[in-house]
Amino acid sequence: MARPKPAYTRVLLKLSGEALLGKLSYGIDFDRALSIAQEIKEVHDLGVQVAIMIGGGNIFRGIRGTAAGLDRAAADQMGLLATVINGIALQEALEKAGLFCRHVSAIEIKALAEPFIRRRIIRHLEKDRIVVFSAGIGSPYFTTDTAAALRALEIRAQVIMKATKVDGVYSADPMLDKSAKKFPTIHYIDVIKKGLKVMDSTAISLCKDNNLPILVFNLNRRGNIKRAVLGEKVGTLVY
Ligand code: UDP
Repeated sequence: MARPKPAYTRVLLKLSGEALLGKLSYGIDFDRALSIAQEIKEVHDLGVQVAIMIGGGNIFRGIRGTAAGLDRAAADQMGLLATVINGIALQEALEKAGLFCRHVSAIEIKALAEPFIRRRIIRHLEKDRIVVFSAGIGSPYFTTDTAAALRALEIRAQVIMKATKVDGVYSADPMLDKSAKKFPTIHYIDVIKKGLKVMDSTAISLCKDNNLPILVFNLNRRGNIKRAVLGEKVGTLVY
Protein backbone atom coordinates (compact mmCIF):
# COMPACT_ATOMS: atom_id res chain seq x y z
CA MET A 1 0.00 0.00 0.00
CA ALA A 2 1.28 3.49 -0.86
CA ARG A 3 2.50 5.57 2.03
CA PRO A 4 0.02 8.38 2.91
CA LYS A 5 1.23 11.81 1.83
CA PRO A 6 1.94 14.17 4.73
CA ALA A 7 0.71 17.76 4.65
CA TYR A 8 4.09 18.97 5.95
CA THR A 9 7.59 17.76 5.20
CA ARG A 10 9.49 19.59 7.95
CA VAL A 11 7.92 20.36 11.32
CA LEU A 12 8.99 21.83 14.62
CA LEU A 13 7.27 20.02 17.47
CA LYS A 14 7.08 21.97 20.71
CA LEU A 15 6.89 19.66 23.71
CA SER A 16 6.53 21.26 27.10
CA GLY A 17 8.32 19.68 30.00
CA GLU A 18 4.90 18.62 31.28
CA ALA A 19 4.61 16.25 28.31
CA LEU A 20 7.24 14.09 29.99
CA LEU A 21 5.49 13.97 33.36
CA GLY A 22 3.25 11.03 32.49
CA LYS A 23 1.82 9.83 35.78
CA LEU A 24 4.29 11.80 37.86
CA SER A 25 3.88 15.23 39.40
CA TYR A 26 7.59 16.07 39.02
CA GLY A 27 10.41 14.88 36.76
CA ILE A 28 10.48 12.44 33.88
CA ASP A 29 8.27 9.40 33.32
CA PHE A 30 10.47 7.34 30.97
CA ASP A 31 7.56 5.19 29.77
CA ARG A 32 5.80 8.36 28.66
CA ALA A 33 8.96 9.62 26.96
CA LEU A 34 9.18 6.32 25.10
CA SER A 35 5.56 6.39 23.98
CA ILE A 36 6.00 9.95 22.65
CA ALA A 37 9.17 8.79 20.86
CA GLN A 38 7.22 5.96 19.23
CA GLU A 39 4.63 8.42 17.95
CA ILE A 40 7.40 10.59 16.56
CA LYS A 41 8.79 7.54 14.79
CA GLU A 42 5.42 6.97 13.11
CA VAL A 43 5.57 10.53 11.79
CA HIS A 44 9.19 10.20 10.72
CA ASP A 45 8.32 6.96 8.89
CA LEU A 46 6.01 9.02 6.67
CA GLY A 47 9.09 10.88 5.43
CA VAL A 48 8.60 13.96 7.63
CA GLN A 49 11.66 15.77 9.02
CA VAL A 50 11.14 16.44 12.71
CA ALA A 51 12.86 18.90 15.03
CA ILE A 52 11.67 19.18 18.64
CA MET A 53 11.96 22.04 21.12
CA ILE A 54 11.75 20.65 24.63
CA GLY A 55 10.62 22.70 27.65
CA GLY A 56 11.57 22.29 31.28
CA GLY A 57 8.45 22.94 33.33
CA ASN A 58 8.36 19.38 34.71
CA ILE A 59 11.59 20.18 36.56
CA PHE A 60 12.02 23.93 36.98
CA ARG A 61 10.63 27.19 35.65
CA GLY A 62 12.32 30.52 36.20
CA ILE A 63 9.16 31.95 37.70
CA ARG A 64 9.39 29.49 40.59
CA GLY A 65 12.82 30.81 41.46
CA THR A 66 11.77 34.45 41.27
CA ALA A 67 8.80 33.69 43.55
CA ALA A 68 11.34 32.46 46.08
CA GLY A 69 13.37 35.67 45.73
CA LEU A 70 16.01 34.57 43.20
CA ASP A 71 17.23 36.97 40.54
CA ARG A 72 15.26 36.37 37.34
CA ALA A 73 18.33 35.77 35.18
CA ALA A 74 19.72 33.17 37.60
CA ALA A 75 16.34 31.47 37.97
CA ASP A 76 15.98 31.28 34.20
CA GLN A 77 19.43 29.72 33.91
CA MET A 78 18.17 26.98 36.21
CA GLY A 79 15.15 26.59 33.94
CA LEU A 80 17.46 26.34 30.93
CA LEU A 81 19.37 23.51 32.57
CA ALA A 82 16.09 21.71 33.26
CA THR A 83 15.42 21.67 29.51
CA VAL A 84 18.87 20.16 28.89
CA ILE A 85 18.07 17.30 31.29
CA ASN A 86 14.84 16.70 29.36
CA GLY A 87 16.77 16.86 26.09
CA ILE A 88 19.05 14.05 27.20
CA ALA A 89 16.06 11.93 28.27
CA LEU A 90 14.22 12.57 25.02
CA GLN A 91 17.25 11.72 22.92
CA GLU A 92 17.54 8.41 24.76
CA ALA A 93 13.86 7.67 24.23
CA LEU A 94 14.03 8.51 20.52
CA GLU A 95 17.03 6.26 20.03
CA LYS A 96 15.32 3.44 21.92
CA ALA A 97 12.43 3.86 19.48
CA GLY A 98 14.90 3.22 16.64
CA LEU A 99 15.53 6.78 15.46
CA PHE A 100 18.79 8.61 14.97
CA CYS A 101 18.84 11.76 17.01
CA ARG A 102 21.01 14.80 17.68
CA HIS A 103 20.60 16.83 20.85
CA VAL A 104 21.41 20.51 20.28
CA SER A 105 21.71 22.90 23.20
CA ALA A 106 21.61 26.69 22.86
CA ILE A 107 24.01 27.02 25.77
CA GLU A 108 27.46 25.58 25.28
CA ILE A 109 27.61 22.26 27.09
CA LYS A 110 29.83 20.32 24.72
CA ALA A 111 30.10 17.07 26.64
CA LEU A 112 26.33 16.65 26.58
CA ALA A 113 24.98 18.25 23.43
CA GLU A 114 25.98 19.83 20.13
CA PRO A 115 26.05 23.60 19.62
CA PHE A 116 23.45 25.26 17.41
CA ILE A 117 24.89 25.67 13.93
CA ARG A 118 22.00 26.35 11.59
CA ARG A 119 23.35 24.73 8.45
CA ARG A 120 24.43 21.68 10.38
CA ILE A 121 20.95 21.29 11.86
CA ILE A 122 19.39 21.39 8.40
CA ARG A 123 21.87 18.75 7.28
CA HIS A 124 20.88 16.52 10.23
CA LEU A 125 17.24 16.80 9.20
CA GLU A 126 18.04 16.02 5.57
CA LYS A 127 19.92 12.95 6.77
CA ASP A 128 16.78 11.75 8.57
CA ARG A 129 17.98 12.53 12.05
CA ILE A 130 15.57 13.88 14.63
CA VAL A 131 16.91 17.08 16.18
CA VAL A 132 16.10 17.84 19.83
CA PHE A 133 16.66 21.47 20.78
CA SER A 134 17.19 22.30 24.43
CA ALA A 135 18.12 25.42 26.42
CA GLY A 136 15.58 27.54 24.53
CA ILE A 137 17.39 30.42 22.86
CA GLY A 138 20.02 30.34 25.60
CA SER A 139 19.04 33.63 27.22
CA PRO A 140 16.92 34.45 30.25
CA TYR A 141 13.59 36.27 29.96
CA PHE A 142 12.49 33.98 27.11
CA THR A 143 10.44 30.81 26.96
CA THR A 144 10.84 27.63 24.98
CA ASP A 145 7.73 28.68 23.00
CA THR A 146 9.58 31.71 21.67
CA ALA A 147 12.63 29.54 21.07
CA ALA A 148 10.43 27.10 19.13
CA ALA A 149 9.22 29.93 16.90
CA LEU A 150 12.75 31.21 16.32
CA ARG A 151 14.23 27.80 15.50
CA ALA A 152 11.27 26.87 13.30
CA LEU A 153 11.97 29.99 11.23
CA GLU A 154 15.71 29.35 11.13
CA ILE A 155 15.35 25.77 9.91
CA ARG A 156 12.44 26.72 7.60
CA ALA A 157 9.91 24.40 9.21
CA GLN A 158 6.46 24.74 7.65
CA VAL A 159 4.60 24.67 10.94
CA ILE A 160 5.04 24.69 14.70
CA MET A 161 3.15 21.80 16.22
CA LYS A 162 2.38 22.90 19.75
CA ALA A 163 1.51 19.84 21.82
CA THR A 164 -0.82 20.54 24.76
CA LYS A 165 -3.23 18.85 27.16
CA VAL A 166 -6.34 20.20 25.43
CA ASP A 167 -7.81 19.71 21.95
CA GLY A 168 -6.92 23.13 20.60
CA VAL A 169 -7.51 26.82 21.28
CA TYR A 170 -10.71 27.55 23.23
CA SER A 171 -12.56 30.78 24.05
CA ALA A 172 -11.87 30.01 27.75
CA ASP A 173 -10.09 27.28 29.68
CA PRO A 174 -12.15 24.15 28.84
CA MET A 175 -11.00 22.49 32.07
CA LEU A 176 -12.62 25.29 34.10
CA ASP A 177 -15.43 26.54 31.84
CA LYS A 178 -17.79 23.98 30.27
CA SER A 179 -19.21 26.58 27.85
CA ALA A 180 -15.78 27.21 26.31
CA LYS A 181 -15.80 26.88 22.51
CA LYS A 182 -12.99 25.49 20.39
CA PHE A 183 -11.76 27.50 17.39
CA PRO A 184 -10.95 25.32 14.34
CA THR A 185 -8.76 28.19 13.10
CA ILE A 186 -7.89 31.59 14.52
CA HIS A 187 -5.77 34.56 13.43
CA TYR A 188 -2.65 35.48 15.40
CA ILE A 189 -4.06 38.92 16.08
CA ASP A 190 -7.20 37.49 17.70
CA VAL A 191 -5.08 35.27 19.94
CA ILE A 192 -3.24 38.39 21.10
CA LYS A 193 -6.36 40.61 21.38
CA LYS A 194 -8.38 38.02 23.29
CA GLY A 195 -5.41 37.18 25.50
CA LEU A 196 -5.76 33.46 24.71
CA LYS A 197 -3.10 31.30 26.29
CA VAL A 198 -1.68 29.61 23.22
CA MET A 199 1.94 30.69 23.50
CA ASP A 200 3.43 33.77 25.07
CA SER A 201 2.99 37.02 23.15
CA THR A 202 6.64 37.17 22.01
CA ALA A 203 6.26 33.76 20.35
CA ILE A 204 2.92 34.65 18.73
CA SER A 205 4.29 37.94 17.41
CA LEU A 206 7.32 36.25 15.90
CA CYS A 207 5.07 33.73 14.14
CA LYS A 208 2.68 36.47 12.99
CA ASP A 209 5.44 38.68 11.59
CA ASN A 210 6.86 35.77 9.63
CA ASN A 211 3.64 33.96 8.65
CA LEU A 212 4.56 30.79 10.47
CA PRO A 213 1.44 28.76 11.28
CA ILE A 214 1.01 27.13 14.68
CA LEU A 215 -1.03 23.96 15.08
CA VAL A 216 -2.21 23.55 18.66
CA PHE A 217 -3.29 19.98 19.41
CA ASN A 218 -3.79 17.46 22.20
CA LEU A 219 -0.78 15.23 22.76
CA ASN A 220 -2.71 12.98 25.12
CA ARG A 221 -4.73 11.40 22.32
CA ARG A 222 -2.59 8.70 20.82
CA GLY A 223 -1.89 9.14 17.11
CA ASN A 224 -2.61 12.87 17.11
CA ILE A 225 0.86 13.93 15.97
CA LYS A 226 0.51 11.68 12.93
CA ARG A 227 -3.08 12.80 12.23
CA ALA A 228 -1.98 16.41 12.38
CA VAL A 229 0.96 15.83 10.06
CA LEU A 230 -1.33 14.05 7.60
CA GLY A 231 -3.51 17.17 7.49
CA GLU A 232 -6.51 15.64 9.29
CA LYS A 233 -8.69 18.04 11.28
CA VAL A 234 -6.87 18.01 14.59
CA GLY A 235 -6.67 20.89 17.03
CA THR A 236 -6.62 24.57 16.07
CA LEU A 237 -4.59 26.21 13.36
CA VAL A 238 -3.30 29.67 14.30
CA TYR A 239 -2.39 31.56 11.14
N1 UDP B 1 14.11 29.57 29.66
C1 UDP B 1 14.89 30.69 29.41
N2 UDP B 1 15.15 31.06 28.12
C2 UDP B 1 14.66 30.38 27.04
C3 UDP B 1 13.84 29.24 27.30
C4 UDP B 1 13.59 28.87 28.59
O1 UDP B 1 15.35 31.34 30.35
O2 UDP B 1 14.95 30.74 25.90
C5 UDP B 1 13.92 29.11 31.05
C6 UDP B 1 12.78 29.80 31.79
O3 UDP B 1 13.16 29.93 33.15
C7 UDP B 1 11.65 28.81 31.68
C8 UDP B 1 12.38 27.48 31.76
O4 UDP B 1 13.60 27.72 31.04
O5 UDP B 1 10.73 28.95 32.73
C9 UDP B 1 11.66 26.30 31.17
O6 UDP B 1 11.16 26.63 29.90
P1 UDP B 1 9.56 26.74 29.64
O7 UDP B 1 8.90 27.38 30.82
O8 UDP B 1 9.36 27.39 28.32
O9 UDP B 1 9.17 25.21 29.58
P2 UDP B 1 7.77 24.51 29.32
O10 UDP B 1 6.69 25.39 29.90
O11 UDP B 1 7.61 24.41 27.84
O12 UDP B 1 7.88 23.19 29.97
